[in-house]
Amino acid sequence: MTAQVIDGTAVARRVRLDVAAGVARLVAGGGSAPGLATVLIGEDPASQVYVRNKRKLCVEAGMADLHQHLPGDVDQESAAALIDQLAADPAVSGILLQLPTPAHLDSEALLARIPAAKDVDGLTTDNAGLLAQGRPGLRPCTPSGVMVLLDEHAVPLSGVETVVVGRSVLVGKPMAQLLLERSATVTICHSRTRDLAAVCRRADVLVVAAGIPGLIGADAVKPGATVIDVGIHRGEHGLVGDVDAMAVAEVAGMITPVPGGVGPMTIAMLLANTLTAARAQQGVVD
Ligand code: NAP
Repeated sequence: MTAQVIDGTAVARRVRLDVAAGVARLVAGGGSAPGLATVLIGEDPASQVYVRNKRKLCVEAGMADLHQHLPGDVDQESAAALIDQLAADPAVSGILLQLPTPAHLDSEALLARIPAAKDVDGLTTDNAGLLAQGRPGLRPCTPSGVMVLLDEHAVPLSGVETVVVGRSVLVGKPMAQLLLERSATVTICHSRTRDLAAVCRRADVLVVAAGIPGLIGADAVKPGATVIDVGIHRGEHGLVGDVDAMAVAEVAGMITPVPGGVGPMTIAMLLANTLTAARAQQGVVD
């Protein structure tokens, strides 16, 4: 293997320590500790694991865990009423609706009830609009975690060829916009893209969020490129990403592993967003 492996676990730990220090400063200055309300609807096992991790790390960072759990058969009105109650509660700095919600619920309508100032997942239309316009707002956690990994490794972005594979609202689109905000030249690929490997080979920075294990092979990577693998899949031999890591590590300059790359950054950025939200709500300025 020739590529440098980007240690997302270490960077995430550092971000969480910074957040914990920020929380301590906020409280020492007379403010109140940020409160994170994770909202889990139903019993989906994967969602339960994700929410448990978020709650644990929220408490470790000195924040209040204001978790809410609703039964899987809850109706839309009751779920909406809970979001409204959290939106109005001054102890709640951030609201995270764990997705996916059960199929009978309209998750977009629920997300729309979260005020932009408490939208620590950065998924509401208001925050997506602010990002699209390049104005300050809470950014989606996974793509902002990728930006921190790139900065931490001093990867140049201004004027650089970047390719994002995937155009989801959760990852691909905000990822492209964050790169554009940093003056990268951005190409977005999706399922209709012709000759994906050829387009990806143009990239000095390649971010892959397609949800297809091993989609990106060595033939799709420019020698020396930085490759960020957002994909997560539970395979026979543990977790794997969207990138054929073994093959690509022979060509790339830097690569994120799965697990231990982008994944840990997502929760770290959720905590960072919750602190940012709390500070703004409490009128704290630097
Ligand atoms: P998604 O909503 O399913 O979007 C996948 C995107 O990939 C779509 O835009 C799709 O194109 C595109 N795509 C699918 N097949 C393709 C192909 N053959 N060539 C090029 N593009 C293709 O998925 P997502 O929510 O963005 O998540 C992507 C992956 O990241 C998943 O594995 C997910 O588990 C993982 N993820 C990880 C984290 C983390 O914390 N590490 C967080 C979120 C997601 P169309 O739009 O044309 O259909």
